[in-house]
Amino acid sequence: MPDIRTRFAPSPTGYMHIGNLHTALFEWLFARHHGGQFVLRIEDTDEARHTPEAVTVIYEGLRWLGLDWDEGPDVGGPYAPYIQSERVDIYRHYLARLLEQGLAYECFCTPEELEQQREALRARGLPPRYEGRCRRLSEREKAALRAVGRPACIRFRTPETGQTVIRDLIQGEVVYDNALLGDPVIGKTSGFPTYHFAVVVDDFEMRITHVIRAAEHLGNTQIHLLLQQALGFPSPQYAHLPLILGEDRSKLSKRHGAVSVMDYAERGFLPEAMFNFLALLGWSPGGTEEILSREEIIQRFTLEACSASPSVFDLTKAEWMNGEYMKAMSGEEIARRLLPYLQKQGLFEGNPAPERLAWLARVADLMKERAPLLTTFTTWARYFFTDDYPYDEKARKRWLTKPDTPQTLRALADRLEALGDWSAQSIEAEVRGLAEELGVSAGQVIHPCRAAVTGTTVGPSLFHLLELLAQQDVIHRLRRAADQFAEDLPAD
Ligand code: GLU
Repeated sequence: MPDIRTRFAPSPTGYMHIGNLHTALFEWLFARHHGGQFVLRIEDTDEARHTPEAVTVIYEGLRWLGLDWDEGPDVGGPYAPYIQSERVDIYRHYLARLLEQGLAYECFCTPEELEQQREALRARGLPPRYEGRCRRLSEREKAALRAVGRPACIRFRTPETGQTVIRDLIQGEVVYDNALLGDPVIGKTSGFPTYHFAVVVDDFEMRITHVIRAAEHLGNTQIHLLLQQALGFPSPQYAHLPLILGEDRSKLSKRHGAVSVMDYAERGFLPEAMFNFLALLGWSPGGTEEILSREEIIQRFTLEACSASPSVFDLTKAEWMNGEYMKAMSGEEIARRLLPYLQKQGLFEGNPAPERLAWLARVADLMKERAPLLTTFTTWARYFFTDDYPYDEKARKRWLTKPDTPQTLRALADRLEALGDWSAQSIEAEVRGLAEELGVSAGQVIHPCRAAVTGTTVGPSLFHLLELLAQQDVIHRLRRAADQFAEDLPAD
């Protein structure tokens, strides 16, 4: 195989859809597997002009997942520039060549006329397409139209007969009739190329060997192959990735909640888990293991093992996978990742001292079995960082509003206050001692205590959890709940 070159060619829309990142990942994996090059190209011919922020969003998404590019707008490369709006002269050159050879022509139809033409086709039950009204204009007719100031776009003169056969590396052989294809616009009245034209020129100019992209572009490939023939370019290989669907099996969209890459980062997904999860959407490593390292995925990745049928973005599975990565991670590492989330919520100081970081690592170690996401620490487990946490419904109903709870909590607070050694072991001894004294089971003390100190009924070992909180905070929380819920009790 020649040196493999793939490209990720997003349009800078201001946000990056998780589906785009999936495409980028597969292009990157293919290049890395073969020791090839991965090129980043910004396709902004549809925009008035790209904004720097919109491009930053793309960089940010790729970097978050750890997809590095060998050539691109910021790093340059032998085929620079890598932003289409800066390559307009190159497209003009090729447009002129097609016009000269009669393989493209000027179209003077106005938007209103085009709409009428489409309407007429629809009325005859035919799919709307350009029927070629300007295909055979004489030089005189063109001159007359120009003279009245009619702007012209440029259309590609597509073959009226025959078929275009796409030999797709994932979707297999797909055949399109040329007669059904209306002549597409390749140059806009503004002088800018359209997507079809720019993509074909750039894939050639940038020596792209494999175009790997989303399935929705399969239909466009007919135009791209025909344009390559007209321009005398060799065709790259095509591989169209399966669609990604939401859990209701419709195309993944904003309706399904978060679709922007950075939403997932904000939700507390680890990039390595998302990398693994996205890789398995439409690609099968063979075998049943699902947790695979980045290196293993690169090593095993092939397009042959990609599926042609759509895959479902199962958020529950993504969270499960993230949880598996959390479990395998050291407390120190989780603490490092967690810090920005906590700081953003005002739950942790900036520039923490080393002992505070060591404490956070212990919290992470204790909680990681139960925390599928980094944000679990700022939501469900926020009681580690603040006294300001809610008591959930179950904690209230099952334990806090029981008539003897306030008394138990106060008795426990008194015992813990007297405790000299604040360790899980000593705390446990006090809790069990109190249960014995009251003649109740240990659970009758443990559960209300957990409900009061954490606001929930579930969590890690209570004694280890209490050990990680400050003694005076635990006592304060026990008394606070005792007071609050004593007030709430109905008077006898
Ligand atoms: N700019 C196109 C998009 O964002 C890229 C299509 C392609 O990869 O050819 O969908």
